[in-house]
Amino acid sequence: MTLLEKAPVKGSLYNLWRITLLTNPDACNLHCALCFLRQRGRSYGKGEMPWKVAEETVRKYAACGIREVIPSTMGEPLLYSEFENLERLVQELGLKLNVTTNGSFPLKGALLWAKELLPISNDIKVSCWGFGQKTWDALCPGMNWNVYIQNLKTLANVRRELAQNSVEPLSKLTIQMAVCQRNRGDVDRVIELAAELGFDRVKLNRAVFLSGSEALQKKEQLSKDDFLDVSLYKQMPLKIEGTFLFPATEAPPFKKCPFLGKELWILPDGSTEPCPDPENRFRDHDSGKDRCEFCHLFPKKSFSPVEN
Ligand code: SF4
Ligand code: SF4
Repeated sequence: MTLLEKAPVKGSLYNLWRITLLTNPDACNLHCALCFLRQRGRSYGKGEMPWKVAEETVRKYAACGIREVIPSTMGEPLLYSEFENLERLVQELGLKLNVTTNGSFPLKGALLWAKELLPISNDIKVSCWGFGQKTWDALCPGMNWNVYIQNLKTLANVRRELAQNSVEPLSKLTIQMAVCQRNRGDVDRVIELAAELGFDRVKLNRAVFLSGSEALQKKEQLSKDDFLDVSLYKQMPLKIEGTFLFPATEAPPFKKCPFLGKELWILPDGSTEPCPDPENRFRDHDSGKDRCEFCHLFPKKSFSPVEN
């Protein structure tokens, strides 16, 4: 029996709490070295999600009880041409956004985006490639470190200002980092930066490498000894989470895939995927095979035992 077949809520829409819309997977203003599309060597090729698809999808799953909508986690979501429509729709339906942005805050700048997003989001995750221009030049060329830091400060400051007059909870703020060899040495300073700015969480994921990216993987993959001993950060006034906290050879602190049956990914044409695993997303599926066999997020051996 496959992991998918073991899903406790297989086939039920009513256990979903969140959907991710791949609104604009090929539209981004940055060129990160570890970007999945760069690893793949070509675009995703499915275009931008038409508003009709986005609206019908959000209304359908809102009726089933979802609480959050994530706009594209491939591509930069703030470049979605229908983003303002999406903001209006989630407010109309009483949902929240959960946004992962690359930190450049394109089109409107950090101040306007902060004012728009903070009241209507549950979490704003800002991607981080390291501490200082040198690491960013290697992993995300084109982003100015000082501008990036200023954007983070703006986000935190606007939240403080809005909080003075807001009765509704404002969005949590997270710094999210894909950790690899190049930026491993920056992790401490990124955690300190997040705490200093008043962010709520640092999410540290180990960098993921697609099949065919062996040269990059050889250069950047962490060894077993590189992982973070989170007990050293107990005094920090923020949460530290993510797959970087446990080596690939050790079981994560859950026994089933955390996505399966609880979330759903919607492609630009409205079709769905049960999880965000990038290897499966780009693979030509053989219907006879279990997608979890190919998983690059949680190797099957990570779940022990899957029955629990
Ligand atoms: S910001 Fe995201 S989508 Fe854009 S290049 Fe970087 S990894 Fe890729
Ligand atoms: S994330 Fe991995 S383990 Fe979970 S359903 Fe997808 S392929 Fe399977």
